[in-house]
Amino acid sequence: MLLVPMRVMVCLSYVPDTAARPRIAADGKQIERTELKFIMNPYDEYALEEALRVRERFGGEVLAVCVGPVGATEILRTALALGAERALLVRDEGTLDSFGVAMALAHVAQHYRPELILMGRQSIDFDSFQMASTVGELLGFPSVSVVSRLTIGEGGTVVAERDIEGGKEIVETQLPCVISVQKGINEPRYPKLPDIIKAKSKPIEEIEPPAVEPVSEIVAMELPQQQRRGRILGSSDEDLDELIRLLHEEAKVI
Ligand SMILES: Cc1cc2nc3c(=O)[nH]c(=O)nc-3n(C[C@H](O)[C@H](O)[C@H](O)COP(=O)(O)OP(=O)(O)OC[C@H]3O[C@@H](n4cnc5c(N)ncnc54)[C@H](O)[C@@H]3O)c2cc1C
Repeated sequence: MLLVPMRVMVCLSYVPDTAARPRIAADGKQIERTELKFIMNPYDEYALEEALRVRERFGGEVLAVCVGPVGATEILRTALALGAERALLVRDEGTLDSFGVAMALAHVAQHYRPELILMGRQSIDFDSFQMASTVGELLGFPSVSVVSRLTIGEGGTVVAERDIEGGKEIVETQLPCVISVQKGINEPRYPKLPDIIKAKSKPIEEIEPPAVEPVSEIVAMELPQQQRRGRILGSSDEDLDELIRLLHEEAKVI
């Protein structure tokens, strides 16, 4: 495939702020969303930056897509301010499981026909790590995950460096493909104030997701156990004996 201007689709997930302290909702199956601040999934900032770089090199356009609630237009506006040409919200108020989100993203791709789909390596809310491979499978595109360096050749050849335990793996494939990126693949740019202002009046397209039956269900969600509180001991001989007892009987490390 000889490269012409590329359509790059970048998938952005709308997740609770990393600094937020989520609570579990009354049904015990989901996060309580009220009063929680949401942001662009941190790994997706790298995917967006990579999409913009590919577009800058080859020409074409970047479509930013989020499957999420109306509040997610906020991260799509950020994508527009950073340089994406188009933004699309697939409106979902939290009814879709991971497979449903993948079906919605694949549905967009079937209409948009991108040469390249970029994602983050994981969405920090549900950490499924599965979107790139599922979307790739649904579209019949190859997918490469956890990519820390991406090189696209003029002929449409893709060379991706993957981080693996204790080393790197180099994978070669062809466009069209799905790539999920790892932190550090690039240094994301910041939006400039005039671009933030201009992005406020740009259109955000909106569609309904395709009708999909969930294939999995969250049956319970729990917060981690509270850490036991620390104890401060003195420096007497008795305290030393107590320390040894605690390490042996309670912490069970000696
Ligand atoms: C079993 C199960 C059941 C669920 N049920 C519900 C539910 O009932 N209600 C509810 O609110 N949520 C539900 N979710 C969560 C919701 O589906 C997640 O937001 C979605 O699955 C993305 O998280 P992930 O961990 O699957 O993605 P990952 O595979 O970890 O994400 C990798 C990348 O995919 C892209 N991506 C992920 N999600 C989106 C998105 N929404 N839009 C655009 N790009 C995206 C991003 O680039 C991201 O970096 C469920 C999740 C699971 C696993």
